[in-house]
Amino acid sequence: MKTNDQTVHILNAELLDSDGKTRLTNATIAGSQFIETTGHPILEDGSTIIDAKGNLLIPGLHDHHTHLIAYAASLVSINCGPPGVVSEADLKSALRGQPGHHWLRGTGYHESVTGHLDRQWLDAWAPDRPIRVQHRSGRLWIVNSPGMEMIANAALSLAPHERDRLTSEDGRLYDVDELLGNLTRSDIPPVKLASQQLAAFGVTGINDMTPSNNAETWQWFSELQVSQDLLQKVRMSGRPALIDCRQTPRLSVGETKVHLHDSSLPDFDDFVSTITESHEKQRNVAVHCVTEVELVYTLSAFRSASTLAGDRIEHASVIPPALIEQLYVLGLNVVTQPNFVHERGDAYLKDIPMTDHAFLYRTNSLMLAGVPTAFGTDLPFGQPDPWAAMDAATKRTTSSGHLLNEAECITPESALNGFLGELSAPSSIRSIKPGAPADCCLLDAPWHVLRNDLSSAHVLMTIRDGELIYSRD
Ligand SMILES: [Zn+2]
Repeated sequence: MKTNDQTVHILNAELLDSDGKTRLTNATIAGSQFIETTGHPILEDGSTIIDAKGNLLIPGLHDHHTHLIAYAASLVSINCGPPGVVSEADLKSALRGQPGHHWLRGTGYHESVTGHLDRQWLDAWAPDRPIRVQHRSGRLWIVNSPGMEMIANAALSLAPHERDRLTSEDGRLYDVDELLGNLTRSDIPPVKLASQQLAAFGVTGINDMTPSNNAETWQWFSELQVSQDLLQKVRMSGRPALIDCRQTPRLSVGETKVHLHDSSLPDFDDFVSTITESHEKQRNVAVHCVTEVELVYTLSAFRSASTLAGDRIEHASVIPPALIEQLYVLGLNVVTQPNFVHERGDAYLKDIPMTDHAFLYRTNSLMLAGVPTAFGTDLPFGQPDPWAAMDAATKRTTSSGHLLNEAECITPESALNGFLGELSAPSSIRSIKPGAPADCCLLDAPWHVLRNDLSSAHVLMTIRDGELIYSRD
């Protein structure tokens, strides 16, 4: 179905209204827009008919926090962390099964597997080939000796201070993604596969929140969209310089992304100026906050710089009660990951003091307090399936079945809304209506079934701008 010059009628579709009520209707797409969502369609010759059979039709899902290139790379990487790999023995067998000569890339490592992983461990237990294993925080790579040697050779062309950052006795390299990416460009990640996978979840748009996104990434994404390797609409956050990139209907400029680390917080005045300078260009700011310290620091910076409607806090992993009101007063949006409750909840229950459990990955308390809240999976650091994230938001069970902060459970309707907002305003919920972009996802069941079974297995068809980008059958 290539529909840009054709009319598409989706008959007997169930729509879900903002009050949670459903209604049956016929929806007509012409070009890249819905033109009619009521009444009796005129079924002219040559139009395409899809019978929805009373099943749910929703706007295409928007994943509001992703790292697409890293996700694509993860598809050709081996998993080195929970839940699949939980012990030293697991890690040894995952690596041992991978002989070869080229780079082997592992992802998802966490200390719960075998503590402080280093070059010496990899040299002793993993195959003799260049290996780099990423910590699941995304900040740290652990590299074995053959890998360090390859990096050292490739780094000869770099400036001395950059080379220093790629040198380490124990093979642990922090915050070198950009440098490493440039040195290992030869293995281009399978973006097409990644994008098709997202289409199969019903995703028609993403916010890519990678801090290093720059004019080069922009160019790459726009080429991938033209070649149809990248099917989704993308709103790209990242470096301040993105503001000068030329937008297209499918590629737009997002926030200036600020990535904080507890251990090395930026100078406060610099942080405030970054916010102010971005605002002067009418561009919002998104700040990565996974600890209480980072959140407190960020709230102070926003208070000094003032906020612009649309500024975002990413993750907001830990929110003590007193800070909820401050988020509200400052008018900040929160984009959080309920999927981590399921994926990492068991580790949180074990490692984080009980008194703080109620502060983790809040949703319900934020919504009740009027803080605009939306969801992103943080793929590939979180699992990429938004339906699993919705399910986790309603149940808040960890993978071993324990409850984490049950008071934060939300309804299936609110959970779905977490992925239905505009890319540029994640908490303003889109609907299927005349004039809206023809971005939609057809499920194989009505909402009364789906709300008790939030699973991507129900996704039947995904359409972006009137174009079919996924069909299950
Ligand atoms: Zn992220």
